[in-house]
Amino acid sequence: MDTDVIIAGAGPAGLMLAGELCLAGVRPLVLERQPRLRETPKANGFNGQIVELLRYRGLLDRVEAAAGRPVRPAPEAPFGGVHPDFSHLADPPIWAVPLPQPRLERLLGDRARELGARIRRGHEVTGVNQDGVTATADVRGPDGPYRVTARYLVGCDGAHSVVRDSAGIPFPGTTYPEVNRLGQVTLADSVTRLDNGDLDVPGLGRIRPGFTRTDRGVFAFGRLTSGVLLLQTTEDEPAGVDDDAPMTLTEFQDSIRRVLGTDLPLGDVTRLSRYGFQARQAQRYRDGRILLAGDAAHQFPATGIGINVGMLDSGNLAWKLAAVIGGWAPPGLLDTYHGERHSAGARALLQTQAQVALRRGQDPAAQALRELFQELLADEQPLRRIGALIAGTDICYPMPGPGQHALAGTFAPDLTLHTKNGTTSVAELMHPARPVLLDLANRTDLRETARDWQHRIDIHTAETVPRPADALLIRPDAHIAWAATTGEPAATAAPALREALSYWFGTPLKTTVPITDRPS
Ligand SMILES: Cc1cc2nc3c(=O)[nH]c(=O)nc-3n(C[C@H](O)[C@H](O)[C@H](O)COP(=O)(O)OP(=O)(O)OC[C@H]3O[C@@H](n4cnc5c(N)ncnc54)[C@H](O)[C@@H]3O)c2cc1C
Repeated sequence: MDTDVIIAGAGPAGLMLAGELCLAGVRPLVLERQPRLRETPKANGFNGQIVELLRYRGLLDRVEAAAGRPVRPAPEAPFGGVHPDFSHLADPPIWAVPLPQPRLERLLGDRARELGARIRRGHEVTGVNQDGVTATADVRGPDGPYRVTARYLVGCDGAHSVVRDSAGIPFPGTTYPEVNRLGQVTLADSVTRLDNGDLDVPGLGRIRPGFTRTDRGVFAFGRLTSGVLLLQTTEDEPAGVDDDAPMTLTEFQDSIRRVLGTDLPLGDVTRLSRYGFQARQAQRYRDGRILLAGDAAHQFPATGIGINVGMLDSGNLAWKLAAVIGGWAPPGLLDTYHGERHSAGARALLQTQAQVALRRGQDPAAQALRELFQELLADEQPLRRIGALIAGTDICYPMPGPGQHALAGTFAPDLTLHTKNGTTSVAELMHPARPVLLDLANRTDLRETARDWQHRIDIHTAETVPRPADALLIRPDAHIAWAATTGEPAATAAPALREALSYWFGTPLKTTVPITDRPS
């Protein structure tokens, strides 16, 4: 056995997984086919629940430093040609990070290496195999082909995953004919930018910011910084595209001409990229010793979704895989990865396919649907619901057992916690990515119950106002495994806690170490 876990692919999902595995005590080997960091820009940023998980790992300062500006709530988000406007909400539902993908990958790669991961660049996985004990990767490296053996192998190798195909995991779904081309540009002097943000294009007239539909496709622009715009064209091209193949300036200009019917004189142009849309999901996220995460597991037909869902896959998988490798995983733990993340992916597919229906229709009926949808989003409740769908903050994993607390399965809220040692927060407690029993009501009975698992979980006592529950059992991925209702009698709460601890964290260890952590 060369290593415990092989990760194929050093994109956001693979590098996040590498860091999380290291936190859980497993040093993976990452194999990346590109000899150096990608130059094709891909995502300009990301958003959603992953922003919170990065904060819960203490990584947001580094993310903000790399982005060069603070992480902020998104004032709006595109939703299939409709524009949910969150700017008037006091607590907007989506947080966005304007960090281009290559810089995100550098940050995650540095962090994974600091924590002990090994990353080999220029090593392409050409095929995978498994038996009852090992998973192997055939690799083409700079010095020729070789084979690596591990206990588990995770395919984080993107949409065209060799791991997925080699393992024979079906990837059913639809490829849409839309091709989107993006460029970050300044405009030539002959184009006037009016005070209200409109462009006055010679030979065409005024174009408003946002999306302009023409007979040939969609042209869109938005301001990035003063003087710099993000331009996008969308056209139907049934041949499909390769996201990773570089795009030329001529290709971009030709596309703009086709869509607008005239040339748009450009100044400086950077960050040219292209992407197509697919709605696909791997039939299984686990096949024995081979697992999938990120774009290898799912493709969504809308922007701004992939990084969030893919990195959350990694947060969910890492601690479960580490538990199996550590030899203490309760039965079925690793299978909950497929159970939880396949449904989360299916939900992301639901909302992104709804976006396809909203965006692609060109007739008056489709326009009426968009207008009606936009009208509904004037009300706060549907607006928040759409925001939570886009961000993936509405994910609630089903927890076993009857009569679960409303918080069970949800992402733990970042409560301010007062302890005898001062003020802290749920986010700070989650930095080491260890499970936490948070006693919020000085419940000796629950702390005593959890004592038998204190080799695996951290037990904290604190006060918070308002108190959402008497106690929270929080998994390393920050989802709540179990919660005690306020004032719940020990007769029901303690056995339920014991069951949850056994279900997620395995066999208890009888211990005589006294609990010293008492409330302030
Ligand atoms: C132009 C464009 C704009 C986008 N904009 C956004 C956005 O704004 N927000 C957002 O959230 N998402 C966006 N996306 C989607 C986002 O880029 C993907 O969802 C994200 O990259 C998926 O991460 P991943 O780690 O799963 O896969 P990838 O980023 O595809 O990483 C896979 C890695 O595996 C490597 N690899 C592939 N095959 C092998 C092999 N056989 N052996 C070893 N290594 C291999 C690849 O070189 C790559 O480094 C955009 C995509 C494109 C193309």
